Amino acid sequence: MADIRVMRDVLLPPSPSERRHLLSIADLSRDDVQRLLATARSFARSLEREMKKLPTLRGRTIVNMFFESSTRTSSSFELAAKRLSADTISIKGSGSSVDKGESLKDTILTLAAYDPDVIVIRHPQIGGPQLAARNTAAHIVNAGDGKHQHPTQALLDLFTIQEEVGKIDGLHVAIVGDVLHSRVARSNIQALTLMGARVTLVGPPSLMPRGIEGMGCDVSTDIRSIAAADVVYVLRMQRERMLEGANYVPSLREYTARWGVTPERLRPGQKVMHPGPMNRGVEIDPRVADHPESLIEIQVRAGLLVRMAVLYDLLTHGPVGVQTATLTEVA
Ligand code: ASP
Repeated sequence: MADIRVMRDVLLPPSPSERRHLLSIADLSRDDVQRLLATARSFARSLEREMKKLPTLRGRTIVNMFFESSTRTSSSFELAAKRLSADTISIKGSGSSVDKGESLKDTILTLAAYDPDVIVIRHPQIGGPQLAARNTAAHIVNAGDGKHQHPTQALLDLFTIQEEVGKIDGLHVAIVGDVLHSRVARSNIQALTLMGARVTLVGPPSLMPRGIEGMGCDVSTDIRSIAAADVVYVLRMQRERMLEGANYVPSLREYTARWGVTPERLRPGQKVMHPGPMNRGVEIDPRVADHPESLIEIQVRAGLLVRMAVLYDLLTHGPVGVQTATLTEVA
């Protein structure tokens, strides 16, 4: 006799919901963030089992479109979708018809023909994900648009801090380096302040956007200010976004001497984070990157959990209880 597998009600894939996007941290309330972090935590427990795949998004289609280089974000979104049993299609800028001059809008319309449930998109231009949201019926997740937003990075950073430090509310985080070109900085300032942390930006005046204090953070041009923080968050020098010929810093060597995060500039017990990819020996000393207080590898693991939580959250109705997330297994 055929082997019949029965699924209980709560184990059925979630039913279709209205379109919801994650384009910016500004789309989220404190409750939303707490719900997403709780869902990520429950997925962490599910990944401890030998059988890591959940049937939660079986029958759903998730398209990953990366028009800018990515290692951590693209691989974790792809694995997150697979761990939730969704079908995935991955498109990269190079090697796709974008190389042949197809516009972003036409590429989106082409992929929309497959009726994807979610499109995850990274684009070098600000507003790429918004354009996608206007031109498809899919839920859109912004995986980084120019120097504007990278909301899932900020969520994984919050998750890492909450799990490793134990709290976000009342914490003091110093974000150091090239703030001017950093979507990670913008998303993190919003996310950290939303959750009650205090943020100090530290870096050369030439890499500090004018008026950034308006986002509710302090600004310092003195690297010694990082010693006062509980967490030091180091940003990459984004050379690919720097205008040709513009001298933001006299030289990389000079930048490292004045702004590099070295063991000598840290206090014992301070946690260090970096979104990757790191320029070892430029913005971060290798001894700091490899130190036990560094949370950099933990951030990568958190990326998978948080991206599973985001995909799950977008495709289910209303608040997602931790219980619901842990129960979605084949009986
Ligand atoms: N990986 C992060 C981003 O895509 C940080 C970086 O590239 O420096 O924004």
